[in-house]
Order: sequence, then structure tokens, then C-alpha cells
Amino acid sequence: MLLCADYVLPITSDPIESGAVLVRNGKIKDVGPADQLRARYADEEVRDFGQAALMPGFVNVHSHVEYSAMRGVVHDVPYAQWLPLVTEKSSALTAADLYDSALIGGLEAVASGITTLGDITGSDSTVRALNALGMRGVVYREVGAMDRRRVEYAMEAAESDIDKWKSAVDPDLITVGIAPAPLYRCHPLIFKLVSAYAGDSIPVAMHLAGSQEEYDFIKEGSSSLSVEIMHRREYMEIPPWLPTGVTPVNYVLNWGAFEAKQVMAIHCVHVSDADIQKMREYDVAVGFCPRCNAHLGMGVAPLDEFRKAGLRIGMGTDSPAATDSGDMFPEMRIGLMVQRAVGGGRHFLAAHTMLEMATIGGARALRIDDKVGSLEVGKLADITAVDMSGSHQTPTDTPMSALVNTGSASDVLMTMVNGSILYEQNKWHTDVELAKSIAHVMMIRRKLRK
Ligand SMILES: [Zn+2]
Repeated sequence: MLLCADYVLPITSDPIESGAVLVRNGKIKDVGPADQLRARYADEEVRDFGQAALMPGFVNVHSHVEYSAMRGVVHDVPYAQWLPLVTEKSSALTAADLYDSALIGGLEAVASGITTLGDITGSDSTVRALNALGMRGVVYREVGAMDRRRVEYAMEAAESDIDKWKSAVDPDLITVGIAPAPLYRCHPLIFKLVSAYAGDSIPVAMHLAGSQEEYDFIKEGSSSLSVEIMHRREYMEIPPWLPTGVTPVNYVLNWGAFEAKQVMAIHCVHVSDADIQKMREYDVAVGFCPRCNAHLGMGVAPLDEFRKAGLRIGMGTDSPAATDSGDMFPEMRIGLMVQRAVGGGRHFLAAHTMLEMATIGGARALRIDDKVGSLEVGKLADITAVDMSGSHQTPTDTPMSALVNTGSASDVLMTMVNGSILYEQNKWHTDVELAKSIAHVMMIRRKLRK
């Protein structure tokens, strides 16, 4: 199939005006000017999207799609208040609820041009949902236990789930990884055991240095958030937590968290220059989640320092329970605006940098950039077409800037994974019974609001 559009944005090379992409057997076989490709492949079926941009599908490195039913349930409170409220509400979700919630999140992702999700979850709902939809994903099984006596059991349960999930999915599409729980919910031994388990082959992701409360808990020994969690979770039987005197990054580093080969740290808002240098030394990728950081008042991640240090950086929408949507367009836009606002003229970020971070950057962070993240010959055909004919994008001479500054999920015309069209013209191509899942999610929301 020959995909044509007014703009082809390979991301790793310059935009092509009136361009085309040849897709055969799930792979990108050619990229170039449309007139040349039309002549070269005269018998090929042509799909011309007209005044639109063809680009690699978004790689959303950090989400929790199983909480898609929870959007808007807890609004307008800062992180330290939001987290216990969301944790309490989410305890009412059954396995069936989580599955339909994850499905809705997956459908939303596909319809907004996302082809790969990096997702942290405690249940099998996400792998099942992505598998049913035909999406690409790196799904990390979360493992946490604050009580030392529960650590081995928690690891065994996680390892057993990972084996089960691996055997149930298409390994070409879904990779299963492991995620130590947030620092205030995780005995430090877990970091060491996770690294030993993951080694060179299993990807690891962790929330790290996101909130001031986490920073205070680790370094100073206490914070409102940690006290709240300890009480709610009845962890009072464990020995008192003592100040470590180090930053969260240094703390997990000391416990061996960066020893595995593929580690991604999410948020990284409260990090020092020395922390960033350590992350560089261990080649730890960053999951940059500007919208969640802003929504919950967590702070501003030092993106410029990450970039100067040469870290691999991907972008993530984080939980729909926090940001209300798993949409990369506002993620790029808010990330750009916040960084420009704090960076001033000296560190003025270009719009195309956000688009790179949302595609090839994410693929590098997840270490799947040999397969996806750009429109290059030989890569898998994970592609999206975005309409550029709306008045908010016309006229434009700089399609990459237009997409970041004014693009929206409703502009997405088509999303393809591995050469298969999953979404097109407001329709999902799936065997999933959509109406049933949507009705169930509405019921879940009524339950959560009680
Ligand atoms: Zn998260």
C-alpha cells in the first residue's frame, strides 16, 4: 500500500512535501516524493490523505490505561492529596472493570495516533487490552512491598505474572517488563532484586523523583504523603522510616536500581546535576510527563539539563486519573510551553524537539528504536495520518510546529500498527465489542462517584 500526503514527516530526516510511504508486509519499504514513488510502484494500491501529515505513530512511554475510567474522578487537588484519594477509589475496581477501562484507554490511544504504549500496571488488564486491540506495548508489572517480610512473596508473584503475560501475547508486539513501586511504597531491597531479575533482557521502569513529598520522605525521613500512606495501608508494624540524607535518585542507585540494562525513570522532577550525571553514567532513560507534573503541582522537570547530558528522553501522558486523557498532542504542547516559560530565551525549545521526543525519543527510551519511532526503510509500519486542513493548521509552512502548536486527537485520520490499520475515519478496526465496553465503563464511573 502506498500512503500519500501533502507532508511526510520521517522525524529522523527532513519533512517531505507531497510525500509517500510504501508499506508492504507490515514494514516500511520506501519513503520519498509522491510522484517518484507513484511512478516506481505504479500497480500499488494508493491511499492519499491529501492535506495531511504522515508521521510515525506516537510512542507514549508512560501510561496507566487501566485507570481510564477514573478520569475526572479526583480533580483539582495536588499530588499528595490526589494519590491517596485515587488509591482509595481504585480499590473498588474489579478485574473486569480494569480490563474494560484499559480497553477504553487503548482505543483512545489509537484514535489519537499512539501506536506504542509504555504502561505500568498491577493487573493483566493492560496486556489483554493491548493484545485485543493489536497495539504495540511495553507493559511493566509493578512490584511493591514496604514490609521486608513481604518482599520475596511480592517478587515471586510478579515473576509468575510476567511469565503468564508473556505466554499470552504476541511477542513481536508486546514486551513485558517489571516496575518497582514508587519509593514510599517499596522496600529498597526490591530495587536490588528487580535489577538482578531483569538483567540485560527485561525492561525496567520506575516512578522516580516526581514529587516534593517523595523527595522529603527519602531525604528528610517524612512528609505528609508518606504519613498518609502508612496510615491508610496499615504499615505501622514495620520499623520506623529513617531519613536517608540522599536524593531519591541517589537512594535507588545505592540500592542497585540502575544495574539492569534497560531502565527508564519517570518524572525526574526533583533531581540534582549530580543525579543527572549518574543517570547518564548508567544510561537511564527519562519518561518526561509535563502535563501530569503540571496538573498535580509536582514541578518542572529540568528538560534542558537532561538534553545537555545526552539522556534518552521519551514523553508520557501518565495516568488518565491525573491528566484526564492519554493524548500526546496536549502533552507536547504543554511540555513546550512550560519549558519555554521557565527557560526563557536562553533555553528556547523548538516545537519539532517535542515531536521527536514523542516519537523516536520514546522509541529510544523503550529501546525499540530499531523497530519504530521514525519513517525509515526497514522499520515496522507504525504510522499515523493527521489532518492538516483545519483552519487551526492552515496555512502552514512548518508542519511539525503546526502539529505541536495546534494539533489535536480529533485531527487523526488513520493509525496503523505493523501495517494493519487499527483506526480510520472515526472507526476502530477491532473485534472488541465496543458498545459493551463503553457501557461498562459508564457503569464503573457511576460506582466510583458514589
Ligand atoms: Zn505514572
